[in-house]
Amino acid sequence: MYDRFSNARILDVDLTKSEINIRTIPGDIYRLYPGGSALGLYLILQDMDPKVEPLSSENMLIFSVSPLTGLPISGTSRVTVTTKSPLTGTIGDSQAGGFFPMHLKANDWDSVLFRGKSEKPVYLYIDGDNVELKDAKNIWGKVTGEVEKIVRQELGEKNVEIAQIGPGGENLVKYASIINMCNRANGRNGTGAVMGSKNLKALVVKKGKALKPYNKEKFSQFSKKVVKMISENPNIEGLGEHGTDGDLEEFSDEGFLPTKNWTTGYFPEGATEITGTTMSETILKKRDTCYGCAVRCKRVVEVPGIVNPLYGGPEYETAAAFGSYCGINDLKAVSLANQLCNMYGIDTISCGATIAFAMECYEKGMLTKKDTDGLELKFGNDKILPELIEKIANREGIGNLLAEGSKRAAQIIGKGTECFTIEVKGQELPAHMPQYKPMVGLIYAVNPFGADHQSSEHDVFLNLPKDSQPIQRLGQIGTYKTYKDPFTIDDDKVRFAFDTQCYFSILDTLNLCQFVWGPSWELCGPDELLELCKLGLGWNTSLFELMRIGERRINMMRYFNARAGFTKEDDKLPKRIFEKMPDGPSEGIQLNEEKFNEAKELYYIFAGWGKDTGNPTESILKKLSLGWLIK
Ligand code: SF4
Repeated sequence: MYDRFSNARILDVDLTKSEINIRTIPGDIYRLYPGGSALGLYLILQDMDPKVEPLSSENMLIFSVSPLTGLPISGTSRVTVTTKSPLTGTIGDSQAGGFFPMHLKANDWDSVLFRGKSEKPVYLYIDGDNVELKDAKNIWGKVTGEVEKIVRQELGEKNVEIAQIGPGGENLVKYASIINMCNRANGRNGTGAVMGSKNLKALVVKKGKALKPYNKEKFSQFSKKVVKMISENPNIEGLGEHGTDGDLEEFSDEGFLPTKNWTTGYFPEGATEITGTTMSETILKKRDTCYGCAVRCKRVVEVPGIVNPLYGGPEYETAAAFGSYCGINDLKAVSLANQLCNMYGIDTISCGATIAFAMECYEKGMLTKKDTDGLELKFGNDKILPELIEKIANREGIGNLLAEGSKRAAQIIGKGTECFTIEVKGQELPAHMPQYKPMVGLIYAVNPFGADHQSSEHDVFLNLPKDSQPIQRLGQIGTYKTYKDPFTIDDDKVRFAFDTQCYFSILDTLNLCQFVWGPSWELCGPDELLELCKLGLGWNTSLFELMRIGERRINMMRYFNARAGFTKEDDKLPKRIFEKMPDGPSEGIQLNEEKFNEAKELYYIFAGWGKDTGNPTESILKKLSLGWLIK
């Protein structure tokens, strides 16, 4: 008997056989892996050899939510996709918000698992327990906005939410994304290419009824309290008003905005033009939200005749990747690039970063007009972006090379271009510089699915006053020390990195938005998280249990990678990160490579991983109830 507070229902879809089965995960198991890629990995590690080729039919692809997903409170509508990544070759984990996650859960499904490969393009339609694979021939090859229209017309049903791939996923672009609402992306790790390799165009869910929390009355009071906290908090209000791009100019002013393929951190000629406040004052049409969230941080921009509001607006990472990474200071061009990525279903960070890499190759003569189909790939040339993105999505000409991501593209080009790639395990770096935030750099290096900026807390929070709420909240997970500057690397900082990584891993397992439920933001901390579990699910849990859940997910990922052949040798930052900052306010600042490597060794000890391998040991696996993995 399904009880959505304590056990999970899995839709198991075999695309080769066109078979759909239902499985239930019992409560005692589900409590160990209650959603996100923890649940995804629990399913994958039972059935799949981590050595499979990511784009082969043997790879599994899993959409997971959590027991908290879609409850009527801010920051609970998110979905994780777990699969073996074609970009990194590691486990892949990618998350998105929107309304799709809530409606998947409202149909009483906790995971949708795909295995095999369909003979012809299909999509999965879910209306409660009526689940059907449908012919996708009319939508294959179409961009996301067209698919939204056609599917609704064909079904004669407006009330659906759609998570889909665009031509980028169909053409197996290594960093293809999965898009819902035309503007929310499971962006990273190339999960869209895995979907494309299975001839699976979309998941379409009929909208369900609002979900009821365990303790309806008290939950409603709690939810109202969170709304009040949002309205009274200037940082969160600022996030809502200017989006995640609100701080871009400040990063440049400090000298730590990745610019011109990370050759500098200073972008005086363009930061004002592409920052969030400029967006608010010029092309912002309205703010948007995910289901039930009062923060409303999502951007919707419009430039008549050029940028269509259907495709949302750029986040900070997108504005940086197509803006400062490429030396481009035109917000309209950046917004159009964002739109094209959402139409074609490709990750904005990897796409912008790969173009920036190609621009450096071009400027330094390793690529010429002969290689680029005549395009002048110079830093600052915004005119080439639309054509280049379309070429990437369709794998045409130079686009076929860049669709491989910067690491593989450099291997193909040769000529020493490997030193221009800014990636970890093949995944391009997000726009937070390890020179400024060394512990974010540490997590970039050791994170199981490549560089990620949302897998731990950022160093700068430790520069806040001791009596500030974020520092008090960090104290609850054992971090008390504060610092005068963000650059310091010491033992306490490494512990901060590991502990906050475990905490963020809880949020990712429970599919909670970090802007609302993150530990150091001044909104909700561990106390509120426990309250959410108690009133939302009736769980009598503790911070100790939740931290173990977070740590378990990280170890399952590392275990998967170890079985796929990864070791600590793969946990490395690009060489450029250890060079002196060349100019601007950060001139001369340098991340000390020796100290960084010592920090990494200490991290492995804290994590309980092998000194020589950097992989989970038998004892840590057993400690985390993962003894069943040991063969
Ligand atoms: S804070 Fe922003 S991203 Fe997070 S749930 Fe709310 S609207 Fe969505």
